[in-house]
Parts: sequence; C-alpha cells; structure tokens
Amino acid sequence: MRVLLVEDDRLLGDGIHAGLSQDGYAVDWVQDGRSAEHALRAENYQLAVLDLGLPDIDGLELLKGQRARGMSVPVLILTARDTVQDRVAGLDSGADDYLVKPFDLDELLARLRALQRRSGGNALPLLLHGDLRLDPASHEVYKDGVRVDLSSREFALLHQLLSQRGRVQSRRHIEETLYSWDNEIESNTVEVHIHHLRRKLGKSLIRTIRGVGYVIDLPS
Ligand code: CA
Repeated sequence: MRVLLVEDDRLLGDGIHAGLSQDGYAVDWVQDGRSAEHALRAENYQLAVLDLGLPDIDGLELLKGQRARGMSVPVLILTARDTVQDRVAGLDSGADDYLVKPFDLDELLARLRALQRRSGGNALPLLLHGDLRLDPASHEVYKDGVRVDLSSREFALLHQLLSQRGRVQSRRHIEETLYSWDNEIESNTVEVHIHHLRRKLGKSLIRTIRGVGYVIDLPS
C-alpha cells in the first residue's frame, strides 16, 4: 500500500515514516502543503496521513480543496487540535478518520487498516480466499491452515491483489503501490514477486493477463 505522509515535524515524521515502512507500507513523506498537492496529483495513493498545522497551507484547507477536485484517497488527520469542534470540522472537511497527538503508533496502524478495509468495501479484518487466509494486522498468510512464509513485498503484493479481487492490475500500478520514491525498482521486480507467490501458494492463484497485468479471480 502506498501512503502519503504530510507532516512538517521532522522528528515525528521520521518516526511515523519508519513505523509505516516497517509495517510494509510504501511511504512518501512531504513536509508542506504544496508538496502534498503535487504528490497527490502525480501519484496514486491508497491512503494519506495529514497533519493540520503545516508551514504554508492549513491542512483542513488543503483537504477541502483536494476533495472539491475529486480526490478520493482515504485521509486520516493527525493533529494536536483536540476539541470536539476541531474533530467535527476535520471529518466534515472530508477526512475519514481523526487521531489526536500524542498517539500510539499501534493505534495509527490499526486505524489505517480499518480505512483500507472500508475503502475496499470489505468490513472483515481477515481476507479469505478459498483455502487462503491473509491477516493484515499480523502480516500472516495461511494456506490450508498452514502458515506460509512471505517476504514483506510478497505479502504487500498478495494483499493488494486479494483486496482488489476480480480487478486486473497492471505491472505499473502494482509498482506504484509497492514502492515509494525512495525505492529503486528493477524492471522485472513485479514478475519476480509473482513467481515467488506462485511457487509458495500454487500456480493457479494469480492469473497473468498478457499485456495487461495480473488478477486474482473472484471465486466462481
Ligand atoms: Ca505541524
């Protein structure tokens, strides 16, 4: 999952960036509103974490403007503004969730998982597919009840394909989802991950649509 982090506090931003990356997210971190606007225009994010007190634009104004332009990325506001009015204003401006600083990283991660579930139209905390079970919280995958060892990228790729079952995803889209600006990507990286997933989970799970991309089909 590709996440945009908008936070001008270097120490806090550094901590969140590290925590999200360690949890398998591909994180792009910007420190002002203008950069956030550019990033949202240029990239396809699955989630955004937005601080409100930014050096150039107020986070709420930024969010309202983006929503008015049709930006549909789920947004979690992260702020020290903690009155009821602040929260209401945040949610009414188009935020999907609101977390007050100081906060616990585990809670931020849990809220981001909940946002992903809601945006994927799936309220269940586990992803189930045939004999396969994926737990986004523990990062575990079970096949026939037996735990399968996946690298963090393999897990992220499987998570992405499973949460969008039935939709073909292009290699380019998968790369954008799995890698942030900080990462170098080899041209065959996605193919290699797909190859490993097939080896570990069975050949028929992921279907290649030649010239288009990859898909995990909905159960028939
Ligand atoms: Ca700030």
